[in-house]
Amino acid sequence: MSLFVPSFETDQDEQAERKMETQTQTQTVGCAWRFKGNSAAKEAASVSMKGNLARLFDNCSKEVKKTVLPLGHGDPTIYPCFQTSAEAEEAVVESLRSGGSVNSYAPGVGILPARRAVATYLNRDLPHKMKADDIFMTVGCCQGIETMVQALTGPKANILLPSLVYPLYHSHAIHSLVEIRKYDLLPDQDWEIDLQGVEALADDNTIALVITSPHNPCGNVYTYDHLKKVAEMARKLGIMVISDEVYDKTIYGENPFVPMGIFASIAPVVTLGSISKGWLVPGWRIGWIAMNDPTNVFKTTGVVESIKEHLDISPDPSTILQFALPNILEKTEKDFFEKNNSILRQNVDMAFDALKDIPCLICPKKPESCTYLVAKLDISLLEDITDDFDFCMKLAREENLVLLPGEVLGLKNWVRISIGVERSMLEDAFVRLKGFSSRHIKTQFTKKLSFIVGT
Ligand SMILES: *Cc1c(COP(=O)(O)O)cnc(C)c1O
Repeated sequence: MSLFVPSFETDQDEQAERKMETQTQTQTVGCAWRFKGNSAAKEAASVSMKGNLARLFDNCSKEVKKTVLPLGHGDPTIYPCFQTSAEAEEAVVESLRSGGSVNSYAPGVGILPARRAVATYLNRDLPHKMKADDIFMTVGCCQGIETMVQALTGPKANILLPSLVYPLYHSHAIHSLVEIRKYDLLPDQDWEIDLQGVEALADDNTIALVITSPHNPCGNVYTYDHLKKVAEMARKLGIMVISDEVYDKTIYGENPFVPMGIFASIAPVVTLGSISKGWLVPGWRIGWIAMNDPTNVFKTTGVVESIKEHLDISPDPSTILQFALPNILEKTEKDFFEKNNSILRQNVDMAFDALKDIPCLICPKKPESCTYLVAKLDISLLEDITDDFDFCMKLAREENLVLLPGEVLGLKNWVRISIGVERSMLEDAFVRLKGFSSRHIKTQFTKKLSFIVGT
């Protein structure tokens, strides 16, 4: 069961309760309470995925008489076909039962066996080997993002983010008052980074270039040559690369995954990762920050120290999971990833084909990684829809189908569809999407279309 999807069961009671709460709030306005909620996170939360998805789920209703299809966020783990590996489960049970130190607090940077295991896991593909000391354990990749934004930024600093980005980068930048500058991704060139654009955006206060590789939501995998150019550009600009590689195991196309750390001798690289996506356990909350830094730039510039200080004052991933991590990383068989990736490949084939029947949604490139498909929304074909948010709101209201508006990821008039779901659900989603778009398409276009297909 998805923990995000409304059950509708307690609708009436809850609504009555909410009404009461509002009334009470109005009545207490006159009291002299000295406290109130802090609005500092308001703007940051307004761009968050969770907040926006909640608004969309609020638009679904029992009256539609269709099950709610939650294709807005990516959490395949609720479906029987996407369950974690037996080895990973076993590792956690074993850790839990091992007694003693798994019940203790862990150091801010993480426990040594976990740090060592992550170094070994990442080093397999790297020319410059990392040591346990170069790894910091985090509460999922999310805390890696938070830590990097906070550890890096001083007054006036700016960071470069892709135009389509995991919204948490944006939220933390807003919350930490860091300026962000968005660079373009090029849909017609396999979603490569517009490097000339990057150069034009950067100035003396630019400190980091964030890349998502493999890319959520575009589903592309950057090539060796492109990433090398990224490193060379970072060197030219004197900035670090932060590479979010949380989807490194979710690859089902032609291009193999290339870790950014390979190019760390050109420009220093911070790799962010976790087991959430690859091992299908986003609820376990364990990830890492890895410093690919053969020339010690991060040490001499104080970045390492700053990361440690931030981790000292923030919560740690559960010690149980930290102790389980070496076995999770080492013992899970290749077959496990291959099986998941082959289901995703079939889903993406189906979804990509089904989109061809929906003229207002155009997918420039079939995804080869991650669990999404992004499509450009051609508003000009639609009668009564103003933008991607309106499209998704009405889709939720009329069809109980929740998709993510591109605006939430930073790019207006795109839509993200999760493909990491049960096959039958995806098929149902496309039937609803087709019905919805044919109801909203401009009539002159319907005629033109039927003329083209000769019906
Ligand atoms: C899911 C995701 C994260 C967050 O990962 P957790 O390990 O669940 O915290 C970070 N970045 C990207 C690109 C993601 O898709």
